[in-house]
Amino acid sequence: MTKFTDLGLNQSVLRAVEEGGYETMTPIQQQAIPAVMDDKDLIAIAQTGTGKTAAFSLPLIQKLLSGEGKRTPKAARALILAPTRELAIQISENIHAYSKYLHLKTTLIYGGAGAKPQIKAMTAGVDILIATPGRLLDLMNQRHVDLGNVEYLVLDEADRMLDMGFIRDIQKIIAQLPKTRQTLLFSATMPKSVEKLANSILRNPLRIEVAPAATTAEKVAQHVLMVPKGRKRELLAHVLKDENLSRVLIFTRTKHGANRVSRQLEQLGISSAAIHGNKSQNARQKALNDFRSGDTRALVATDVAARGIDVDGVTHVINFEIPNEPESYVHRIGRTARAGATGASLSFCDHEERAYLKDIEKSIRQPVPVLEDHPFHAEGIAEAPAGEESKPSNNGRGRRGAGNGRPRSSGSGNRQNNGGGRSGAPKAQRAGAGAGAGGGRQRNRRTQRSAA
Ligand code: AMP
Repeated sequence: MTKFTDLGLNQSVLRAVEEGGYETMTPIQQQAIPAVMDDKDLIAIAQTGTGKTAAFSLPLIQKLLSGEGKRTPKAARALILAPTRELAIQISENIHAYSKYLHLKTTLIYGGAGAKPQIKAMTAGVDILIATPGRLLDLMNQRHVDLGNVEYLVLDEADRMLDMGFIRDIQKIIAQLPKTRQTLLFSATMPKSVEKLANSILRNPLRIEVAPAATTAEKVAQHVLMVPKGRKRELLAHVLKDENLSRVLIFTRTKHGANRVSRQLEQLGISSAAIHGNKSQNARQKALNDFRSGDTRALVATDVAARGIDVDGVTHVINFEIPNEPESYVHRIGRTARAGATGASLSFCDHEERAYLKDIEKSIRQPVPVLEDHPFHAEGIAEAPAGEESKPSNNGRGRRGAGNGRPRSSGSGNRQNNGGGRSGAPKAQRAGAGAGAGGGRQRNRRTQRSAA
């Protein structure tokens, strides 16, 4: 079964799904939807980008429609728990889209926003409540929410919820749910803590697993650009001359870094916004909406803020700084290859970051090809003898480090260049972004040596 039309879904749901442009089910949907419709509990190992939201939302909507339960004051028929406001909002947006021709009532409860409207929205009861654990527990304790009639429970990104310290809240919430219910647990990874939670709340669950990390990595055309640390900003300006980079998600390691990069882009006349933990909920939501609608071309994010960001059509992910955890790398680049689409990623690697890159290549079990065709290529970083880079160090980095930090044309003596006349130190901003990432030629024969 690969088509949504094979599932026996309500016609209004099918219509909404078709209007959303979905035709074929993703692997997680193929496995999960029939099982959920068949009343099974589920433990699903799936990352964002696999279509997991529809995998639980569509059968949930279907069951709520065909079931006999009713809305009652302060109560919800289905509860979806998510780790962050952003993810909760995204789930809600998806569910609204799938149920736009139906009369289901859906609401959101999350922290960082006023509780009053949330309490009010619960007064008459809802069909689907999407919530983050902390605020939900508060409102339950204050008796504004009563979960005694929940028929369906979904835990989304369970591993992140536990990472964020929600285990106790989750246990307290679940203790107030009826024992007879259907429970679905989704998690990108399955550490022991999640396994333990799953064992305590699921009944004879079906276990499904899709798209291990490496698969995401294979769908993305990845490149690394070797660049002295002090020239990354110029490199960013350079690659963004290429208009093929039309919806670009840029990652930095710190909040300040994100602000700095975003400011720099604005100065260059490139519309952008930064999204990170110091921004208000409204500011984050606005930044996301503007990025989604195409009003801003670049969104600069930290790893934490990017959790659960769900934007279709991201053409490129740029790692302005390479993450020190391979998992973050896979998460980041996965933002550009959503649900079967392909995408591209460009990682700016300075001398200190070579060790991170090496870890990443090991983890994804493939080397990341080096793109040399840019004016800041630092041969010294690409070619430092193995061993030298094994630990990030403060030595030999930056301007005076790799390649003297002087911008270079593509390649050195024995390499063919881009036909633009090689010179030892061409101008930083050479005309033509053709040498930039999107349109630039890549030297396939050279792969990242540190992978060896
Ligand atoms: P998720 O893994 O739930 O974050 O979904 C990733 C993205 O894939 C979302 O933007 C969905 O709208 C989209 N999507 C989900 N299912 C499908 C499908 N069967 N076909 C095409 N796109 C889909």
